[in-house]
Amino acid sequence: MHLNLTEVDHPLLKHKLTLLRNAETTTDNFRRVVREIAAMMAYEVTRDLPTEMITVTTPVTECQAPVIAGKKLCLVSIMRAGNGMIDGMIELLPGARVGHIGLYRDPHTLQAVEYYYKVPEDIDERLVIVVDPMLATGNSASAALSRLKEDGVTSLKFVCLLAAPEGISTLAEHHPEVPILASAVDSHLNDHGYIVPGLGDAGDRLFGTR
Ligand code: URA
Repeated sequence: MHLNLTEVDHPLLKHKLTLLRNAETTTDNFRRVVREIAAMMAYEVTRDLPTEMITVTTPVTECQAPVIAGKKLCLVSIMRAGNGMIDGMIELLPGARVGHIGLYRDPHTLQAVEYYYKVPEDIDERLVIVVDPMLATGNSASAALSRLKEDGVTSLKFVCLLAAPEGISTLAEHHPEVPILASAVDSHLNDHGYIVPGLGDAGDRLFGTR
């Protein structure tokens, strides 16, 4: 099992995740709850950011107080479902840049093929938080992390809603240094590559395409 895996344990988050799992949850509620959970994940994934002390003048006196220090942030969405998490995360991280990676699986080679890649020019200087609601086989996540490393990124984290053991193993094998933050770790993948018990196809449920 991935040493860098953190399953966020919070009753509010678990409650919201149950709403997402429910097949009866409507598209508008699904979207809203993904946004809310994403904001909570942004809170958790930034828990270890370094701070530095600055001098601030309050209405009462001058004091030393902490501000975030270190690398600037970039969120990277693995399209398309990752896009559903971006709004919630930037509510908490309004200064973060946002990149997008589009990948599809070649039906013959089964390899992830990039069809879209747009990230900030200074991505190599940033802490990059890659987001995708579902860590299933881990192939897209692994390809996205490799692509970012090709661009010189050295500080990476991966955030998802649900992780399958198979996806965790894939990242542990290819990117063992990348911390994974998940709202829950589910049982396994079924024959169609869906996470069980899961929540279905996150992209379809976010965008109402099925
Ligand atoms: N992608 C999804 O959207 N859902 C799954 O269960 C697995 C991969």
